Amino acid sequence: MTDASDWVDELIGEQAGAWDLSGELPRDLIRELGVKGLLCAQVPTEFGGAGWTSLENGEFTAHVGSRCSSLRSLMTSQGMAAWAVQRFGDTGQKAEHLSALTSGSVAGVAFSESGAGSDLSAMRTRIEVDGDDVLVTGSKVWVTGAAYADRLVVFGRYGDGAAAVVVPTDASGVAVRRVPDPLGCRAAGHSDVTLDAVRLPRRNLLSGAGLPLDWLVTSVLTYGRLSVAWGCVGMLRCCLTETTGHTARREQFGSPLAEHQLVAGHLADLLTAEHAATRCCEHASRCWDEGSSELPTAAVVAKQVSAESAARGAATAVQLLGSAGSRDGTPVARVYRDAKLMEIIEGSSEICRLLLARHAVAVWA
Ligand SMILES: Cc1cc2nc3c(=O)[nH]c(=O)nc-3n(C[C@H](O)[C@H](O)[C@H](O)COP(=O)(O)OP(=O)(O)OC[C@H]3O[C@@H](n4cnc5c(N)ncnc54)[C@H](O)[C@@H]3O)c2cc1C
Repeated sequence: MTDASDWVDELIGEQAGAWDLSGELPRDLIRELGVKGLLCAQVPTEFGGAGWTSLENGEFTAHVGSRCSSLRSLMTSQGMAAWAVQRFGDTGQKAEHLSALTSGSVAGVAFSESGAGSDLSAMRTRIEVDGDDVLVTGSKVWVTGAAYADRLVVFGRYGDGAAAVVVPTDASGVAVRRVPDPLGCRAAGHSDVTLDAVRLPRRNLLSGAGLPLDWLVTSVLTYGRLSVAWGCVGMLRCCLTETTGHTARREQFGSPLAEHQLVAGHLADLLTAEHAATRCCEHASRCWDEGSSELPTAAVVAKQVSAESAARGAATAVQLLGSAGSRDGTPVARVYRDAKLMEIIEGSSEICRLLLARHAVAVWA
């Protein structure tokens, strides 16, 4: 993992700011990470993956997140797509799609629709079997990585339940359009996707078709929540690096900023936030690795603590750098925009709180 982190450092260098401004990640870089299996490093080695534990993958995700949230977003999406196939695919589907995802193929996951954001039960995309084929019709929004993706795992209604289907982005009837000017993670290739009676071989329909939507979606979202949470830990680490460096160097009123007590208080809060978020993520990853039934709640706690801490921490970081952090292109300005979006995705802060309140009542009342 340390080797992979060093290698990623070399690949990213000082380019994350430029990628953010241009809204584009280099496709060669995505491919290089993909062929090493590092976009979805938890995929077992039998499918060409790195076979990392959730804890190992989490630390790597945090490392990438500390350097470039757009790239980390792609890792989250690829990992979710891989987990959907691993969880719901049959032997042949796993062999086909997991092997592709660890050899350079890029994937996204499509749940959200214009009328179904927090409330995915309002989803209208239809998946229907037609002889040896499956037909997919609907519209998805804000699909991370879709601008780079070769395939999407698309969720939709299927009879009285739901299903997930693997849709190649070059299939007839698929249209991918970039979301213009996203606030953050600008190079993550967020796109709206139209599926106009897309006809695919029936083997693209993942097993588990017909299960309740909530059941299908929660499992995949749990992976996403934990991955985003680790990414937020990375953002907090970036904020610590930037703020401790700047406040040690810059002097005002005759001494370094870090020696002014109100500034020192902010630094202490940032360190506390990074520690708390890391511990929550480590706990959730251990639940994943041990197959604990605590996992879904632990992942929501990790996501909630990490995302809110990253958004607060990034605002503090901009504050501590003052005008030096007030320009587009500076790491803290980028993290400030990226972190805000983490409070919206994979279950917004409000939805996470509702889930946690329900759990609290079930366990403590
Ligand atoms: C950067 C980014 C990346 C994304 N990537 C993907 C992706 O890869 N795939 C995908 O399918 N989707 C993706 N999405 C979509 C994302 O999942 C949704 O934006 C998210 O679920 C929220 O839905 P919404 O935007 O429609 O907001 P809404 O559901 O309209 O919510 C708006 C506000 O109302 C609040 N709210 C809603 N319901 C309640 C309630 N019952 N109680 C209290 N408050 C409530 C929300 O918390 C939020 O603050 C992405 C979005 C963003 C911004």
